[in-house]
Amino acid sequence: MFKALMVERDADGKTSASVRRIALSDLPEAAVTVAVEYSTLNYKDGLCIGPGGGLVRNYPHVPGIDFAGTVEASDDPRYSPGDKVVLTGWRVGEAHWGGYAQKARVLADWLVPLPEGLTTRQAMAVGTAGLTAMLGVIALERQGLAPGQGPVLVTGASGGVGSVATAILAWLGHEVAAVTGSAGAGDYLRSLGAARIVAREELAEVTRKPLESELWAGCIDTVAGVMLGRVLKQMKYGASVAAIGLAGGAAIEGALITPFILRGVNLLGIDSVMQPYENRLEAWRRIATDLPLDLLDSMVMPATLDDLPRLGAEILKGQVRGRVVVDVN
Ligand code: NDP
Repeated sequence: MFKALMVERDADGKTSASVRRIALSDLPEAAVTVAVEYSTLNYKDGLCIGPGGGLVRNYPHVPGIDFAGTVEASDDPRYSPGDKVVLTGWRVGEAHWGGYAQKARVLADWLVPLPEGLTTRQAMAVGTAGLTAMLGVIALERQGLAPGQGPVLVTGASGGVGSVATAILAWLGHEVAAVTGSAGAGDYLRSLGAARIVAREELAEVTRKPLESELWAGCIDTVAGVMLGRVLKQMKYGASVAAIGLAGGAAIEGALITPFILRGVNLLGIDSVMQPYENRLEAWRRIATDLPLDLLDSMVMPATLDDLPRLGAEILKGQVRGRVVVDVN
């Protein structure tokens, strides 16, 4: 028997999450059984621990979209007992039972070997949030972003994706402007390397202007909503925005075509869930080299399975700073 955070749904559709003891035979059938060491908390986990957000179809459910641990048994030649592995995405923790348990059983295709230079705890300090931040940075670089071109904006900067994006961009030599609505997050963001703090209110109103002054050489956007509508109009000629999240709304409020056709601005969609294996390996390699581990450590709030119902509700309200690392044992 082992511990798992189990979400159940009653006849009225109300969900509740609690730590239970379950058996190996309760786990879904799949090739690789992993003894989970650490998991983490992303915005999506908040949805899956709580109301579901349409992501979870079958209950009871074990959430946790990320985990890192050691292979315990494998029917797939790519992995053997003792191998250290990481899982992010592939709808694990949503459609498939996830990492909020001491054991998980998954397809070998969904795993990557633990990146060299990282511990399982550090890999979960990165998690989907950090991996996606890196995918966003790589996408901006492919469009030509290089240090020295001007400030790079990070929205939702004190959140998980935003914190990692701020640290990576600053370490690479970019001048990072960090947008935050959290009182007191300024010192934290400066400690990650942000050169400038932009108050969320500065980008909180829809404007009818077709374009604004050219300010940003690139942007990692985790907020969308009104903010993305404004930011697009402030991008420098030919610059790109990596669209990662929707913490401020699913629409792009007040967006016009003008930034695209008058300034050649690019909006780059970033998905981490179905990202092919080779791209994942590249992003993890870059994380191991371009994310200072002391800064990563400074973003971490440690937690246990018992903390997750509370933390899940908090992340949905934008009240979690940096990265939560869950020790499942
Ligand atoms: P967090 O909750 O950790 O961070 C989101 C941050 O956005 C908050 O900390 C807050 O930062 C800011 N924010 C919250 N609410 C609002 C609001 N109403 N208006 C403006 N800003 C707001 O979440 P994550 O970093 O884990 O994820 C961020 C987004 O990215 C989510 O929407 C998530 O679903 C998405 N995502 C997408 C992925 C993909 O594959 N495309 C992968 C991972 C995440 P501050 O207080 O500093 O302003």
